Amino acid sequence: MIKYKLFCKNCDISFDSWFASSKEYEKLKKRNFLSCHNCQSKKIEKTLMAPKLINKSLTENSTKGFAKTREVHKKIKEYQNFIKNNFDYVGKNFAYEARSIHYNNKKTKGIYGTASKEEIRELKDEGIKTEIIPWVDDKSN
Ligand SMILES: [Zn+2]
Repeated sequence: MIKYKLFCKNCDISFDSWFASSKEYEKLKKRNFLSCHNCQSKKIEKTLMAPKLINKSLTENSTKGFAKTREVHKKIKEYQNFIKNNFDYVGKNFAYEARSIHYNNKKTKGIYGTASKEEIRELKDEGIKTEIIPWVDDKSN
């Protein structure tokens, strides 16, 4: 059995679903047997496995690089929405919150925020893994 986090493009929600295997998922997807629990839409996508700690900070240059094309920009936005809905935003307290999760097991929900390169390196040294994802700031909405 394998658990996937599925994401509905229509109503922007995500939910967990179990499949016998990744092949079974592909089969069901191909035959349009997957639908949203909420709105019955068939626009279901498997999301990336959600890491518990997400550092959204990136240098400005690489963010611009990622956001170059519309399509990529859209994908990033989709992922951002997913994170916003499923993770707690901790802003610049990221390193602190990441430690309190790691050492105290305080929160059950994942967090996202920003951290400096030094902080990320320190966290890594302490055995705390973080994900770095591209992030675009949308001024138009
Ligand atoms: Zn839906």
